Amino acid sequence: MSKPKMATEKSASRVLMLLSQLERLNEDHKVSDNDAIRQITGKILHLLQTQEKTRKEVTSKGAGGMEVILSSLENTQDLQTTLNILAILNELLTVGGGRRTGMFVSKGGTAILLQLLVSSSKDPPANEELMLHIHTLLVKVGPKDRKFGVKARLNGVLNVTLNLVKHNLQNHKLLLPCLQVLRVYSGNLVNAVSLGKSGALEIMFEIIGPFSKKSTTLMKVALDTLAALLKSGMNARRAVDRGYLPTLLTIYQDWHRNDTRHRHVVVRKSILGCIKNLTNIKLGRKAFIDANGMRILYNTSTECLSVRTLDPLVNTSSLIMRKCFPKNRLPLPTIKSVFHHPLPHIPAGGPVAQLYNQPPGVDDVVDESDENEATEVDTENDTEYEEDETGHKTQNDDDIETDIKKLQPIQVNTRPFDELRAYEYFCREFSELFEEDDFESPGSVIPPSSVNSELHRPIIIPTTPSSLGPQNRRALREDLLTPKSDESPLELDSISISKRPEDTADPDLVCSLGRLVVDGGVDGSQEEGGEQAVLEVPDTAALLPLHDPDLYLEMVKSTRSVPAYTEVAYPDYFGHVALNLREPILERVYGVQRTKIFQDIERLIHSSDILDKVVYDLDNQSCPVIDNGESLKFNSKFESGNLRKAIQVRKFEYDLILNSDINSNHYHQWFYFEVGNMRPGVRYRFNIINCEKSNSQFNYGMQVLMYSVQDAINGSPHWVRTGSDICYYKNHFSRSSIAAGGQKGKSYFTMTFTVTFQHKDDVCYFAYHYPYTYSMLKMHLQKLSALRTAQIYYRQDDLCETLGGNSCPLLTITAMPESSSNDHISQFRSRPVVFLSARVHPGETNSSWVMKGTLEFLMSCSPQAQSLRGSYIFKIIPMLNPDGVINGNHRCSLSGEDLNRQWQSPNAELHPTIYHAKSLLQYLRATGRTPLVFCDYHGHSRKKNVFMYGCSIKETVWQTNVNTSTCDLQEDLGYRTLPKLLSQMAPVFSLSSCSFVVERSKESTARVVVWREIGVQRSYTMESTLCGCDQGKYKGLQIGTSELEEMGAQFCLALLRLRRFTSPLELHNHNSHLLDTENELIDTRSMPNITSPTTYVLEEDEPAFLEEVDYSAESNDENDPDLEPDLQDNLALLDPSSDSEFSPNTHLTETEPGSL
Ligand SMILES: [Zn+2]
Repeated sequence: MSKPKMATEKSASRVLMLLSQLERLNEDHKVSDNDAIRQITGKILHLLQTQEKTRKEVTSKGAGGMEVILSSLENTQDLQTTLNILAILNELLTVGGGRRTGMFVSKGGTAILLQLLVSSSKDPPANEELMLHIHTLLVKVGPKDRKFGVKARLNGVLNVTLNLVKHNLQNHKLLLPCLQVLRVYSGNLVNAVSLGKSGALEIMFEIIGPFSKKSTTLMKVALDTLAALLKSGMNARRAVDRGYLPTLLTIYQDWHRNDTRHRHVVVRKSILGCIKNLTNIKLGRKAFIDANGMRILYNTSTECLSVRTLDPLVNTSSLIMRKCFPKNRLPLPTIKSVFHHPLPHIPAGGPVAQLYNQPPGVDDVVDESDENEATEVDTENDTEYEEDETGHKTQNDDDIETDIKKLQPIQVNTRPFDELRAYEYFCREFSELFEEDDFESPGSVIPPSSVNSELHRPIIIPTTPSSLGPQNRRALREDLLTPKSDESPLELDSISISKRPEDTADPDLVCSLGRLVVDGGVDGSQEEGGEQAVLEVPDTAALLPLHDPDLYLEMVKSTRSVPAYTEVAYPDYFGHVALNLREPILERVYGVQRTKIFQDIERLIHSSDILDKVVYDLDNQSCPVIDNGESLKFNSKFESGNLRKAIQVRKFEYDLILNSDINSNHYHQWFYFEVGNMRPGVRYRFNIINCEKSNSQFNYGMQVLMYSVQDAINGSPHWVRTGSDICYYKNHFSRSSIAAGGQKGKSYFTMTFTVTFQHKDDVCYFAYHYPYTYSMLKMHLQKLSALRTAQIYYRQDDLCETLGGNSCPLLTITAMPESSSNDHISQFRSRPVVFLSARVHPGETNSSWVMKGTLEFLMSCSPQAQSLRGSYIFKIIPMLNPDGVINGNHRCSLSGEDLNRQWQSPNAELHPTIYHAKSLLQYLRATGRTPLVFCDYHGHSRKKNVFMYGCSIKETVWQTNVNTSTCDLQEDLGYRTLPKLLSQMAPVFSLSSCSFVVERSKESTARVVVWREIGVQRSYTMESTLCGCDQGKYKGLQIGTSELEEMGAQFCLALLRLRRFTSPLELHNHNSHLLDTENELIDTRSMPNITSPTTYVLEEDEPAFLEEVDYSAESNDENDPDLEPDLQDNLALLDPSSDSEFSPNTHLTETEPGSL
């Protein structure tokens, strides 16, 4: 053995030879061979220490080396042999340990080691070298053995190691590996509890202490062990009782002060890790506040901010502070909508019934008690508020429909044909007798919303006064904003509007605006104002052929809102011209969220700086209009407006609260409000504090929209993407369980943005997305109807009246028959039907802009439009939810329900538009005119680009991995054609985001019901981003109305191409290059990603945050994104699937023994 320079080949054979000798000795069990075994193991050890390659020899496949070594370890009673073998193992597992450690574990090495530990500790004092070897090995093995925690406990070694720690506090050589093993033990929650009972916490506090440059490794391991122990609620309570929280804060401050060169950031982070786990329990949070923890962490963090390497400390501190920040009550009397609309009847069940059955006097803003900590579960990924068609909340595969029966067409005829026959009225084109005269004035046009045309409410136009001179402003302002009963507001009819002469482009806006006079016979204004006002309207007519301010006001008169709005917002009145400018998706500035959160925390630290001045409040009509020039003025009392309350927090910072959908207590997302009385050049921060969704495109570069009235008058009537420092994060306002669908302990989210206004005395509007009101739709339809030519068949009917008394327009557009000849009439009537709808969700205004693009294309005189009209009969419901749109709802109709979840059994009274739309579709099917295509336009707040959801049995079944005999399923792949065409033609369209999976949660959406019940194979939801594109021509840009309208037009072009694939007649008539068959086009090989379920696509959609966005500030949140990487590895290795006691994804405190 003393020939270290032996040739490699010989040494290789030598170690194997030694191993086989050892094996033979093992088999013989001869005690007398102790010496021999000792010698052989010694030789092997020497070879390993001197010959690099012997390690490979021993553990190579088939060598059986590990088995022999382990078997020797198990059998030997000899201390020196044991030490030799442990040293051999340490050698083997040191380098390239991953695979060899795995081998060690798989051969049962862990149990042998643990048994050895138990047996050698029976006769104290234990051999130190032995203990050192065993623990050094356990440190390597523990994290690789999924069941290590359980094995350790069952073998009874927890206290062996703990006692070693206790008795060797000064013996750092042995202490360190023992602590490291203890840390691994503590990763198992049951072990943590057991160790806590045995005094582990107290021992850790004997090791950790004030700043010292010595033994920082030991300090770190002790802290990490402590942090692991404190994951148990029971241990955390014990630690709080013993006053350890203030101790930890003191230690943290000490390290913060003394570690001036930041050499020991990891130790400092570990101290915070302990505090973080302690504050998972309510008692801990209280102790933190009592110990002045907020101020301590705030101050230390502030001092760390400038050093980027200290970010982990700042982030963890921020997380702890957010968690401990006392939960605030949303400053509202109730979370129910300010506005109420009585329903004809209350639905039997569901959220609306709940809302109505809520006993009076119940405080729905906060929960009466938040004592029940155990039920505080963070369920950001549940299904409570599902967004759009995406199901981003339904992120599990459970949502995919697995019941084949539910994926197959059904013939549900809820209404007998005799009843459906009434819908013949909406399909008069099929029965009309076309006389020669008809070709002059086709169709019969019903004026829009004839229902309420007798309505004569006084309408106030543009609410701004600030553009008037200072003297006039006040008088007019009072008239406009606070019409008193004895002083009738300005009547629309009495206002004359004159276009601004082109030569008066005066840059001094205040001056030029001073000439604004309201001309008319309203007594009050004339007396006080005493001047003639000429409202200068930007001349948008040339740019906006469908816009006409006069007509808009006309339309507003017949629009019925629940709050009976009398004011009109400037942007809707002036019109919006698409910006001829690229608006890039904002790059997220590093640390913006952190900065905002720190500013929020300062509210607590420097509470005397907080103004807390309510400046706008719909709940309190007598809310004083403060006019000291120090506060902004807000207003949202106009169509589609949504802002419930504004509170001035600091001089230039406002908290804003959105109103719930009517007959609901949530769905806060859409906003549209006016701001005046601003100072130019000052950065104003706005916080919408009652957002509910767990994430938002505002975190991914989306900006809010702003419209400046002064800019508009100056010739720039644009909605512009604006705002900096935008981010979206969980805040400290608590959400009641009523608001959170029964879940306790949830918070709201803040969407914050900062704006600098350009003009003094401007009036600006902010909106979630480009507003598109119901009155605007009516105006556009009237303008469109005027575009009819002798070739266009255009008819507008009222499908029904809504709950709010508004009409729901239904359009029929096609080409007039070329003549009244039988052939032409027959071609006319054999055109397939295309059924389109939009805006079932009021907050998705982008869908209206896409629809506008479609409608304009359909009414245009281009050859393609002519060809398209000649190919199809279009049935279009451009706004399925007028009431929701008018009243500024985000999601629901006046019934407080999501209309796109009512298609299975719509109620004629509560959901009239859905009821009649579905009946019309049923009528079409019953008369053999089942639409070729159905498409419902939506907006998507979480994804980029435009894409479609469709329905496919096969793709759904594939997703479920259910071994159904899918080969039996026959399915025409035609549903893929339209999306494929769109991806070729429309730059905003992304094929890879499309999905054709049918989810259970979507079974009552238009798409699924029209597919299943009406039998429309090409039944789609088309989702348009609210944010922008990450592919195609507009990659990196935020989306604007022109891109949305372009999308609507391209949808038409795609339909035109679809016609070639679906019409055998045309196929034969076309050239060979058009003969690529539909199947060729939809070649599945070119659509690799298309089978992804919506949920899967979503996860990949978003880029990672620059800084980790932390949503774990919710109390008792165990799913900790901030977990250190190394510990996280350990957790991953301690695989929950193999160790039922340990699962990082479940609520550990709930499984803790004795804690219930
Ligand atoms: Zn939608």
